[in-house]
Amino acid sequence: MKCSFCDNLAIISQKYSGFHLCREHFVRDFEEKVEKTLHIGSMIAETDKIAVAVSGGKDSTALLFCLRRILAKRDVELVAVTVDEGIAGYRDDTIKAARAIAEQLGIEQHIVSFREEYGYDLDEMVPGKKVAPCTYCGVFRKNALNRAAKRLGADKVATGHNLDDEAQTIMMNYLKGDFERLMRFRPWRAQKGLVPRIKPLRAMPEKEIALYCMVNEVFTESRECPYANLSLRADVRDMMNCLESQFPGTKQSTVRGFEKIAAKAQGSYAQMDLAACKECGEPCVKELCKACELLGLLGSGSSHSNKDH
Ligand code: SF4
Ligand code: ZN
Repeated sequence: MKCSFCDNLAIISQKYSGFHLCREHFVRDFEEKVEKTLHIGSMIAETDKIAVAVSGGKDSTALLFCLRRILAKRDVELVAVTVDEGIAGYRDDTIKAARAIAEQLGIEQHIVSFREEYGYDLDEMVPGKKVAPCTYCGVFRKNALNRAAKRLGADKVATGHNLDDEAQTIMMNYLKGDFERLMRFRPWRAQKGLVPRIKPLRAMPEKEIALYCMVNEVFTESRECPYANLSLRADVRDMMNCLESQFPGTKQSTVRGFEKIAAKAQGSYAQMDLAACKECGEPCVKELCKACELLGLLGSGSSHSNKDH
């Protein structure tokens, strides 16, 4: 099949747009869409230092690669931050891949581990606990990234969340009927102590991200986390993929629909002012931040502000 824009052979048929794209036009389309996302969301300002969360998987690898290219002529500094949650048989390989891409692009990399920050590997936090592994993982990863970004003096944290992730998160909150959480999904304003988070790949389908890595010949670790199938997200992902293949564009319309609702609801769900956690000083809604609350459940009794444990 021929490319819709030139005589070259197409490497992808975008069912949602109706275009067939050759390698060159695919890469151009991909990077233009990411640039548009950055622009619409006013995500990056001149002289910003951006801490890019790089796990070594395809999303964050594509993110680092693509930002590096798009921002090449701008006065923006990129630094890679890799979180080692401590997941045996999984994280070691992804960290190697993260190291390789940072090195290849000549970008400084910092690794922060759950063990150093909180005293435990994720594998040690999980057994026999009522809380799902992904809950621990998500809370501590966010916390660790925020703390690392502050230490590095970063203005923003960029994560590799893609269109599939966004549509899944929205759908999961619909399914749980958790409207409050859904509304919090779209941050309205900057909060003290919280480094603003940006998601430059939020409009990009997961499959195109994988293809972008492939055509740019960057190696990514495709291994799946051993805890991934224990979450509601895994079922929602299958459901959304099934709908997308029958009705192309479903993921995009899920996100668009949510944005319309969120715009209408703006003001009705006032964003709370965040306080400082009384244990560690990180921003939080209650007295303790989520990370310290979970650490309490683990029975550590001590805060992660004490880095010596
Ligand atoms: Fe963490 Fe869950 Fe992702 Fe595994 S699947 S890395 S436990 S959030
Ligand atoms: Zn705390």
